[in-house]
Amino acid sequence: MRDATRRWIDADHRHCWHPFTPQDDWCAPDHEPLVITHGQGSWIHDSEGRRYLDGNSSIWTNIHGHAHPAINQAITRQLEDIAHLSFLGFTHPKAAELATKLCSFFPQDTLERVFYSDDGSTAVECALKMAVQYRQQSGQPARNGFLVFADGYHGNTLAAASLGGSRFFDRFKGTGYPTAHVRSLDNLRSLDPDTIARTAGVVIEPLIQGANQMRPWPPGMLAELRAWCTDHHVHLILDEVMTGFGRTGTLFACQRESVTPDFLCLAKGLTGGYLPMAATLTTAEIYDAFRGPAENSFSYGHSYTANPLGCAAALASLELFESEDTLANLAPKIDHMAAGLTALKLAHPIVHDVRQCGFVAGIELRRPDGSPFPAETRTGEAVCTAARKHGLLTRPILDTLVLMPPLCTTADELDHAFTALGCAISEISANPGIDTRPATA
Ligand SMILES: *Cc1c(COP(=O)(O)O)cnc(C)c1O
Repeated sequence: MRDATRRWIDADHRHCWHPFTPQDDWCAPDHEPLVITHGQGSWIHDSEGRRYLDGNSSIWTNIHGHAHPAINQAITRQLEDIAHLSFLGFTHPKAAELATKLCSFFPQDTLERVFYSDDGSTAVECALKMAVQYRQQSGQPARNGFLVFADGYHGNTLAAASLGGSRFFDRFKGTGYPTAHVRSLDNLRSLDPDTIARTAGVVIEPLIQGANQMRPWPPGMLAELRAWCTDHHVHLILDEVMTGFGRTGTLFACQRESVTPDFLCLAKGLTGGYLPMAATLTTAEIYDAFRGPAENSFSYGHSYTANPLGCAAALASLELFESEDTLANLAPKIDHMAAGLTALKLAHPIVHDVRQCGFVAGIELRRPDGSPFPAETRTGEAVCTAARKHGLLTRPILDTLVLMPPLCTTADELDHAFTALGCAISEISANPGIDTRPATA
């Protein structure tokens, strides 16, 4: 190991605290943290001179590749003007242009207001607070709860976390908004009228639940949910933090089913994955309830709201969708990914299921008899660690491997990812430490 690498790892071990990470594992002597020093296109490079395909788009953010000259240039140009200013009391060209651009993707008189914040959690947080305050200011204060889909993920600030169905949030349950969890549309339809009468909005990750091991919804479900919401005077809040910006094959997932929500939450890919920035889009009807006396206003915001560097990156990223014809080029690669997934499943008995939505895939590992691996084996993690040696970086969700590289990834690069996954799965399947016997054996 190079001296510099050793120094960085030592300093990290001494002073950094990593998200969602058991720190004893991170600091264990046999764990070698990768020090990522730079990226180019779909590849990221470490301090030891090795390169890896960015198999999860740097935690689901990157869209057009790393160090893209157009986005880099947009950021550096903006940097020469001003890096940051207050959006509280001022505006700036890039924020105004970006808001106009974002609204232009939706039918007229639907989503026409943009509220900026910093990340996916705050984009959702804003939608929730707006939805509740809207009800307070339009004579329906009892409608202060939310319906959410079980095992969803909507971020981890307190209100956003209160929607989460996952293992991360149980300890915080009861601290956020009242929420009712449903598993399906049928579940929703059988809710008692009292619950519905207390509901401000329904929150969903459209087309596919991401953090819940990449689980697509049945086709047509989103359009049916939209109709249900309209019939029951409940707002539809779409969390497109993961699905936005081309991941599912259309610019926004909701466009696949011609659905327009009442609130749309965007973050991760908004800036092409370059800077932390988010947007909550909503309708004139909702915005208008916040006009009138000063106490009606939305008292929410952060120091870096509408950061000009982020806005400049976002505008450049959206321009690339046009100049590089990103979505048209993506379509054949989505088919290529489907073929690769099918081949992977055929080749490996421990690949239990493959799930895909656009350019997002989950590969679920189980023992050949279909029973889950014991959690303590951490099979998914073992496969991802093995894949590093074959030039692929990704992270599993439990025993589901995630494959969602940047949209610029070529068919050849996808093949590289599948080869790496195949080698890693073979190695782990052959590892005597991984118990692939049926649970009853
Ligand atoms: C990642 C994610 C969030 C949270 O976004 P952060 O930027 O991590 O706060 C919210 N919703 C969905 C669907 C996500 O995938």
